[in-house]
Amino acid sequence: MSTIHFAAVRQTLRLEGGAQLLRCHMESAQGLAYEPGQYIIINSGLPNAEGKPLKRAYTLFAVNEDGTEFSLLAEKLPSAGVSVYLNEREVGDRLQFTGPWGKFKTLPETDTPVPGAVCFAFGTGINALLGLLNRNLPAPKTHLFWFRDANTAFMSDVCLRDHLPHNLHELKIEDLEAYSEERAQELLADLAWAKDHDLYLAGEGHWTDGLAEGFLALGAQPERMRREVFYRSPRQGV
Ligand SMILES: Cc1cc2nc3c(=O)[nH]c(=O)nc-3n(C[C@H](O)[C@H](O)[C@H](O)COP(=O)(O)OP(=O)(O)OC[C@H]3O[C@@H](n4cnc5c(N)ncnc54)[C@H](O)[C@@H]3O)c2cc1C
Repeated sequence: MSTIHFAAVRQTLRLEGGAQLLRCHMESAQGLAYEPGQYIIINSGLPNAEGKPLKRAYTLFAVNEDGTEFSLLAEKLPSAGVSVYLNEREVGDRLQFTGPWGKFKTLPETDTPVPGAVCFAFGTGINALLGLLNRNLPAPKTHLFWFRDANTAFMSDVCLRDHLPHNLHELKIEDLEAYSEERAQELLADLAWAKDHDLYLAGEGHWTDGLAEGFLALGAQPERMRREVFYRSPRQGV
């Protein structure tokens, strides 16, 4: 059975687009054994349709050296679910969770070094990449493409730039609403060279799957690819 942890909310920061950043402190003296890219599962205590507690995954946005303090960045969605629960938390509230979990970590080194990394984030999936970009990936050899929801502005472009290494090889930000199957095909044609790089894809599931399959068809190695699906958008239905 997985260990249940508790942490106290120490600070909250409402971002302009409606997301909330929560800085939390572990109740136990033992810190989290965390690797960048991992997430925790929050138990909101709210009942789901079967009366069981509603639980959802949230990427660790930042973790201190000994793992006793961490931050989460939760988008506020029009749901009655955990995203709203986290957005309503206040200083002094207590969070219950398990983890860290997840295999969306930096790929191991190879005998023949790869030329670099190409990262694609859709929506809140950017959270899973921030840890890798800041701690593990070699910034001058890393390309980042972020398709963000301009309507919710989960994290502003300025905020993202503030949280990224300044010497990233390439950063492109586009509107998620304008993303389409055609744009995916254009990217695959323009970035065919990326098949020889390490590939990281996180966020909306239809779009991450589409690009991942496209790169595999171009010859990318499945073992040099990491994917993390955060959610699947019904409206995109591809
Ligand atoms: C590994 C992992 C890491 C995650 N990390 C984060 C994180 O750091 N920050 C964060 O805000 N969310 C993150 N999520 C999403 C989060 O777990 C919840 O799914 C989300 O907050 C919605 O939960 P809910 O209970 O409010 O609504 P739900 O009832 O779960 O969902 C309501 C509807 O919203 C859609 N939806 C869910 N998430 C999103 C989204 N981000 N954008 C648009 N539509 C969405 C669902 O498809 C569904 O149709 C992560 C998910 C996974 C699997």
